[in-house]
Order: sequence, then C-alpha cells, then structure tokens
Amino acid sequence: MLEERSAGAIIYRQSPQGKMYLLLNYPSGHWDFVKGNIEKGEALRETVLREAREETGITDITFVDGFEDKVEYHYQRDGQVIHKEVAFFLATTNTDKITLSFEHQDYTWLGFDEALAKLTYKTAQNVFKKVKDL
Ligand code: ATP
Repeated sequence: MLEERSAGAIIYRQSPQGKMYLLLNYPSGHWDFVKGNIEKGEALRETVLREAREETGITDITFVDGFEDKVEYHYQRDGQVIHKEVAFFLATTNTDKITLSFEHQDYTWLGFDEALAKLTYKTAQNVFKKVKDL
C-alpha cells in the first residue's frame, strides 16, 4: 500500500471575541487545518512552518508546547489505496490576513464550537477536541 505523510497545525489567534481557529477549504471540498506533505529531510515542525507560509502567508508561527497528535486515514487516488498519517501541532499567530495559494479555495477563522462543526472529518474533530481539554 502507498504511504503518505503530512504534518499540519491547528493555528489560532487571539481576538477580542476569544481564540479564533483557522480552517482551509481543500480542493476536494473538505474543511481541515493547515497541513501538507513532509518533504525529504524535513522535520515535522519545519513542514508546518513551510506549509503555513505557502498556504496562508502566515510567517509568525509559535508552537504551543505539549501538544502533538496524529490523524490516520485511507483514500484512493488513481485506483490506488493510500494510507496517510498526518501529525498535528498546536500553534498561535498574530496574523489575521490570509493570502491563499492556488491549493485552496477558501479559508475561515472561527471560534472553537463553530470550527468543530465546520471540520469535515471526525478524525480531525477528535484531535481538535483535545485542544479544548488543554
Ligand atoms: P496535503 O494537505 O497533506 O498535501 P491533500 O490536499 O493532498 O493533502 P488530503 O487533504 O489528505 O489531500 O485529501 C486527500 C483525500 O483524503 C481527499 O479525498 C479527502 O477527502 C480525504 N481526507 C482528507 N482528510 C481526511 C480524514 N481526516 N479522514 C478521511 N479522509 C480524509
């Protein structure tokens, strides 16, 4: 089976309304956190910094210590089943202006409950719920 590895982050910023979480709308239609494929020789957090910059224009990322989790799923591409693992970190930023790349169609900043409801996949929701417990 083909294996794919990505890394991403639950990115939030403090606003007068509280913490706002960043979600992206992926080309296949789902809403998820910033993430992307790990390039050769890259440490997981390096992938996150690069993907955040490429996908959203955010360059001021601070990782929140003590949070690391993983999502696992299978999907099909060109008739091949792919097993994918995505490592997720928690990170904060002061940037609110997002510059999307060609890779995504939309983004949104939402409070916790709205973001939880917007996430398409249960696996991502389960990781996100652990953030609230922190
Ligand atoms: P990356 O951001 O890692 O480069 P990508 O945009 O290439 O990823 P994914 O977001 O992994 O691709 O989506 C690939 C396929 O897997 C899509 O069909 C998507 O609907 C599905 N998928 C994405 N996340 C999950 C999940 N948590 N559980 C199940 N299926 C998922």
